Amino acid sequence: MEKIYPKLILKKGKERSLQNFHPWLFSGAVEKQDKELTEGCIAEIFSNDDRYLATAHFHHGSIVARVLSFEKCEIDQQFFNQKITKALELRKHLYLTDSAETTVYRLVNAEGDGLPGLIIDIYNRTAVIQTHTAGMFEAKDFIKNALLDISELQLKAVYDKSSASMEKHSGIVRKDSFGESKDTYLFGEKENNIVLENGIKFSVDWEGGQKTGFFIDQRENRKLLMQYSKNKKVLNTFAYSGGFSLYALQAGASLVHSVDSSKKAMEWANQNVELNFSARSPSDRNVVHNYFALDTFDFLKRENEIYDIIILDPPSFAKHLSAVDKAAIGYRNLNCEAIKRINKNGILFTFSCSQAIDKNLFRKIVFMAAAQAKRNVKVLHQLSQAPDHPVNIYHPEGEYLKGLVLFIE
Ligand code: SAH
Repeated sequence: MEKIYPKLILKKGKERSLQNFHPWLFSGAVEKQDKELTEGCIAEIFSNDDRYLATAHFHHGSIVARVLSFEKCEIDQQFFNQKITKALELRKHLYLTDSAETTVYRLVNAEGDGLPGLIIDIYNRTAVIQTHTAGMFEAKDFIKNALLDISELQLKAVYDKSSASMEKHSGIVRKDSFGESKDTYLFGEKENNIVLENGIKFSVDWEGGQKTGFFIDQRENRKLLMQYSKNKKVLNTFAYSGGFSLYALQAGASLVHSVDSSKKAMEWANQNVELNFSARSPSDRNVVHNYFALDTFDFLKRENEIYDIIILDPPSFAKHLSAVDKAAIGYRNLNCEAIKRINKNGILFTFSCSQAIDKNLFRKIVFMAAAQAKRNVKVLHQLSQAPDHPVNIYHPEGEYLKGLVLFIE
């Protein structure tokens, strides 16, 4: 028998964005809702004249529904099996599932894979799940079963890393409706955590690290840095576990400085340098890497060193649209200080991962920084997130990472 889900009925004329396949429904569009609707449950959305539009997770807050399907269906084990298998298909086309060089990739990228609120990252034979909504949190068993059902993933462990992301929503989530979240292995136990990315080794701590343990979205951009790094003096700020630093060293940079305000991150970066370079031949041993557990702004104020290449990859300065103006000033000052520290004919890799700051605004901010630093600047590359973080074309908000590679004359 067909399952009956509680209903959300829209105001007249408010079906447009759903008809354009945008996966979010805002609270202002809703005329009526069944009283059985609780945080995280499945809802069916209907137009004012009672036409079915979509099946979604319901949540309190400004986004009341996140669409799982635009066709009537049951959100059951089979639904998750199909969605995750489809996500895997795409990664096969990206040559990520079977690569000897890269054993870390994003398998599910939320809206980009039609599963709003769900991230799944693969680290060798471990899948790390991060849910960002009560609906996805409640679907954890379906998700785990779907992953274990895909034999080619050969998973030995499934780790749920949702507690931090769910806490952020605790203001709108009623604890009694979905239970407490605690990071835990849903299957197996801690497995080999030394992954390969483009042949470079990284030790990843998905239990203690930020997000799911590693910033996989920068893979292609790190690779691009290699092209420019030979015999160069490189400063990698907001370095986390040393992603960009390792690539620069691998490409033969003469010196790399890594900066991050987290002491733990700097220890990981140093360990990763050891992991890749300590066992090499003596001629390879003159790898020069120094790390500084410092605020980037303080570091730039304190050190007078001039670099050939600087990388700026800060965390999001604007979590909400209301914070954009302040964030823009932060990005401008940061970029200006960095540009001043770049040698004649040097290079800046600069990023923003704030969803609220779009490509054009980011470019304007960097333009202002260049003018303030009084340097001639040329754009060499415009960067984004790696393709295993696909953007659903109907959900432009999913394109969060913006980067520019600049030639600083
Ligand atoms: N570039 C990294 C990812 C950066 S994530 C990679 O390729 O893996 C952002 C990092 O910025 C985090 O590690 C965080 O600890 C650090 N951070 C946040 N605020 C900072 C600040 N003011 N100064 C230096 N580091 C900071």
